[in-house]
Amino acid sequence: MLKCSLCIHDERTAKIDIIDGKPLCRECQVYLRHPFDREGIRKELEELMENVERAIVAYSGGKDSVVALYLAKEVYKVPELEAVMIDHGLMAEEAVENAGRIAEHLGVPFKILRYDYSDIFRDALLKAESPCRRCSKRTMEKLRKYALKNGYRYIITGHELPFGHHPYRLMKGGIIQIRLLSLMPESERIEVLKGLPFEFPELPGYTTNCLVLGPALERYWERHGHSFEHRRIAALVRYGLMDREKAERELSKPTVPTWQRKLVFEKLGISCK
Ligand SMILES: [Zn+2]
Repeated sequence: MLKCSLCIHDERTAKIDIIDGKPLCRECQVYLRHPFDREGIRKELEELMENVERAIVAYSGGKDSVVALYLAKEVYKVPELEAVMIDHGLMAEEAVENAGRIAEHLGVPFKILRYDYSDIFRDALLKAESPCRRCSKRTMEKLRKYALKNGYRYIITGHELPFGHHPYRLMKGGIIQIRLLSLMPESERIEVLKGLPFEFPELPGYTTNCLVLGPALERYWERHGHSFEHRRIAALVRYGLMDREKAERELSKPTVPTWQRKLVFEKLGISCK
């Protein structure tokens, strides 16, 4: 089976061509034709952050949103910040604990808004699909409404992939989402975490906060024989944000503890097989 020489796509997950004697996936071919101006994206981010006086941080208690909160507070020194967690109903307990502990450590007000995303999760599990896109879309919409209601213009998030060639995007109602970790390598993020009271939860899948991801990956694996996170993790490898070895590990079939599968299935009213 052909494997892309730049990222981790293979023939199961992407179309691969031989270019100058090397296998290269279509996504990498596009990237090589239009590479990022890394300096430009960094510079745009710095300039934008200079004008941010008040912002909410989309705060899931996962490692990336924790790093985003740290950077906003300690590096960019945003004068007024609020860490807002959207609890979708199946957050790992450790994530809620990490979130509270770190917000307190950094002296940032922390708010939890609780919702029930069972409809999204149940659908995804029953159809063996990824719940992630719908979940994050709903969460961003809830945060956008919260920002509008409370007079915030900026929502800072912990995404490491920029929006195309920019670190921000304009949302409805004049709200601006800033991806504060745009193109920040995983190794640098880990360095930041080492200085914070963050405890790594033991969760299956590439997550430090979500209980649904593991069981959803498991269902997807059973149906398709690979992970639905391939594309996202391939992008991280392509852009040099994650090394290949770690990526391969993240994409291997997860081992979901029985208690976790049971908890998720019971909550969603799905019978365990
Ligand atoms: Zn590739």
